[in-house]
Amino acid sequence: MSSTSNHPAVRLQQISNHIATKKDTGMNKSADRILVEDDNLDHEYLPILGSNEFRFASAKLILGANSKAIAEGRVGAAQCISGTGAVYTGAHFLSKHYPIKGAACYISKPTWANHRAIFEGVGIPVLEYPYWDAATKGLDLKGMLSCMQSAPNGSIFLLHPCAHNPTGVDPTPEQWRQIADVMEAKGHFTFFDCAYQGFASGSLTKDAFSVRYFVDRGFELFVAQSFSKNFGLYSERAGNLTIVAKTPAVKNRIESQIAKAQRAVISNPPAYGSRIVSVVLNNEKLYSEWETNLASMANRIIDMRKALYDELVRLGTPGKWNHIVDQIGMFSFTGLTTPQVKVLKEKYHVYLTDNGRISMAGLNSQNVKYFAQAVDYVVR
Ligand code: PMP
Repeated sequence: MSSTSNHPAVRLQQISNHIATKKDTGMNKSADRILVEDDNLDHEYLPILGSNEFRFASAKLILGANSKAIAEGRVGAAQCISGTGAVYTGAHFLSKHYPIKGAACYISKPTWANHRAIFEGVGIPVLEYPYWDAATKGLDLKGMLSCMQSAPNGSIFLLHPCAHNPTGVDPTPEQWRQIADVMEAKGHFTFFDCAYQGFASGSLTKDAFSVRYFVDRGFELFVAQSFSKNFGLYSERAGNLTIVAKTPAVKNRIESQIAKAQRAVISNPPAYGSRIVSVVLNNEKLYSEWETNLASMANRIIDMRKALYDELVRLGTPGKWNHIVDQIGMFSFTGLTTPQVKVLKEKYHVYLTDNGRISMAGLNSQNVKYFAQAVDYVVR
């Protein structure tokens, strides 16, 4: 194996040539086949911060190919154990090096259950900011902004850039502007957790709006990225922590502290999932196939929202159901109560979380009517 043939640029060219000669049988499978047939690949350790191809392609994916911050050399990245590991890695770094001792991390109410566990686990106190407005079944922007206003300066805020889990409610671009104004005025630190890029609107660019907007305004921030959902790589643990710092020197210092910490916890991240992601992100043909796949997944979910809404309206189901079509991404916070959920499970064998969250991905043209009838029954 010569060092020239192992150079990333040469390898990507070989992969590109290889793809051009392959039948079109699905983006992940094509990437799999390329990896299986690549004689240059082995099971050597990756560097401590992970594969360079992977982590910088990931940073580019979330920040945009023309990101000024990338061009200015102040964007760092660490390959982590998927999205969970990326949140943990950022939280652990903040627990050791955040300049305001005792600063709390504010998480949305409600949020993905692991956020609290991760931040508390590294010794950062966790508080909640209002997010879900049960009356409107939408965003409680007023409550969120006023909590940001009254939090001590320099607090840490964990924000979902798109497809909020579990509510499916995202701020609009105008609302993100208002959020950024308060975050800036109060000197809060922004920690984005991005587990669903491409899933909310079907567009990788639209779903990255909030992150890119904050970076354009000059925020220093972290973004945890997961490839579990948008690549279907759940078990491969492919994730990344993108670091946007004020200067290249600060970025270098953060990266080196993260490398030191990562060495002590995992030594080096796993290779396989990150190879699939880098093959796709660094190849034009596979990238555009992936974009098409994401759009068809997201659009199918949007169609199911519409079908469910139409059916509930047709049945005259009591209550307002516009939140079903207004919410976005994989999840919908239906507003069903825990006792109603119990009946759905026991009488109709429809399974959802006790807080009324459904996975829209579980609905299809065969079962949407059945589900609507079941909802109609339990709310009457
Ligand atoms: N953040 C959020 C908001 C999530 O919903 C998830 C997955 N449910 C993750 C992070 C992490 O996922 P993973 O570790 O599988 O990448």
